Amino acid sequence: MIKVIIACMFILFVQLHSSAVAQTTGPISDERQVAIVIDDLGNNMKGTEEIISLPIPLTVAVMPFLPTTKKDAKLAHKNGHEVILHLPMEPIAGKKSWLGPGAITTDLSDEEIRKRVNDAIDDVPHAVGMNNHMGSKATADERVMRIILEVCKERELYYLDSKTTGKSVVATLAKELRVPYLENELFFDEQYTIKHILKQANLLMSRIDQDDEIIAIGHVGIAGEKTASVLKQYVPLVQQKADAVTLSELLIELETIPNFRGEN
Ligand SMILES: [Zn+2]
Repeated sequence: MIKVIIACMFILFVQLHSSAVAQTTGPISDERQVAIVIDDLGNNMKGTEEIISLPIPLTVAVMPFLPTTKKDAKLAHKNGHEVILHLPMEPIAGKKSWLGPGAITTDLSDEEIRKRVNDAIDDVPHAVGMNNHMGSKATADERVMRIILEVCKERELYYLDSKTTGKSVVATLAKELRVPYLENELFFDEQYTIKHILKQANLLMSRIDQDDEIIAIGHVGIAGEKTASVLKQYVPLVQQKADAVTLSELLIELETIPNFRGEN
């Protein structure tokens, strides 16, 4: 079961963003739900076109301040997908150059972090939520995450924790600040081979039998075309077993579950 924190005022939040989900919101059913998130758009990455043309509602995470940030976000939105900000955040290991412009690092002042998060949200059209690009160091830093989640609250965005570290403080802080919050459960393509991506897609199919709601993350980039082709192949199979939904739709559905308000 996905751990989710829903603010009491969440319905209001959803209504404010209803235009973004209107194209994909169907009647709430008893069916199981799968939300597929695709990270790393915005830099003309391989597989972007194939992903955006997939015939199911996806949630696409677009990096700010890059050559195709606006183009990818607008096209994805036009095709009925949900757009979120893919905020580059400091990892424990790795080069700063992998992060891209406007990255959040733990050496920044409170004011600078706040400014960078707001500027990044402003740069990605139609963004209704955010998740972290990398971030194994930053998401474990309470000062940094408190500022980021406060901005989420002010701007009425939800936060998807990509779970790049087991030490993430996002869950605790999102609960305290009452920011709508979800966690990734499965990565499709940490390894760039068709064999691995197929294995993960099969894992997703078996998870659908066990869980009512599942979130799975894939990427455009090195394996983008492979991920897109596997997803295309699995779309009919997923649809036989579950509703493919955006993260906002998943949050709406979870809001209807009694006692599912983050107290547990
Ligand atoms: Zn990323």
